[in-house]
Amino acid sequence: MEIIDTYRHKGLRRQMVDRLRSKGITNEAVLKVMEDIPRHAFLDSSFTEIAYKEDVAFQIGSGQTISQAYTVAFQTDLLSVRQGCKVLEIGTGSGYQACVLAALGCKVYTIERQRNLYLKTQPFLNEYNFRINTFLGDGFAGLPTYAPFDRILITAAAPEIPQALTGQLKAGGIIVVPLDNENRSQTMLRLTKNEDGTLSREEFGEFRFVPMLKNIGND
Ligand code: SAH
Repeated sequence: MEIIDTYRHKGLRRQMVDRLRSKGITNEAVLKVMEDIPRHAFLDSSFTEIAYKEDVAFQIGSGQTISQAYTVAFQTDLLSVRQGCKVLEIGTGSGYQACVLAALGCKVYTIERQRNLYLKTQPFLNEYNFRINTFLGDGFAGLPTYAPFDRILITAAAPEIPQALTGQLKAGGIIVVPLDNENRSQTMLRLTKNEDGTLSREEFGEFRFVPMLKNIGND
């Protein structure tokens, strides 16, 4: 696999990171990996320009789904990862978020329910970063075989907090989840698991995600 990453791409990326800063992202480690990773490589080549607009829409066609750069930065910051963290991501999509986490030194397990997307992204990710393990499956079930996790990141709109996932979180672990609210958008939640198994909850504003759907599909 050869990724073409020109000076122009790098320049577009610097501008993207500047806009993320001006929108309030202050986590320098996150900004650094987002400046380094060739985001355009996660999309079809016709979308290079769009790739570097930080507020681009979610579904970009061709069966590809990628979160806004701003949302990736925001969720990654909330997740408060450390080198060596074992992270479960729900919703592999383009694979970009998984690579951001891997670049921060995490061991990433990522699940995608849409078969075509999985088949497209899986070989790319395998080659791109050895710290990423990809799975075709239903994120509501998580990955019991690989549990427990230090961090869990849901990158689709969750209708409820998936019980299986909170069960797969270590004590002291963090789950970041956009939870459906009454405004037809999602409230970003950060849940921290206490020693007694209860969850402490913090809210971080409204976002819009594609829905988290049950079962494996080809849609
Ligand atoms: N993290 C991705 C963006 C994901 S968009 C990126 O960085 O590009 C949300 C993704 O979640 C979509 O690809 C969608 O197919 C997937 N998804 C929806 N419901 C799911 C479920 N129950 N389990 C796993 N993936 C799911």
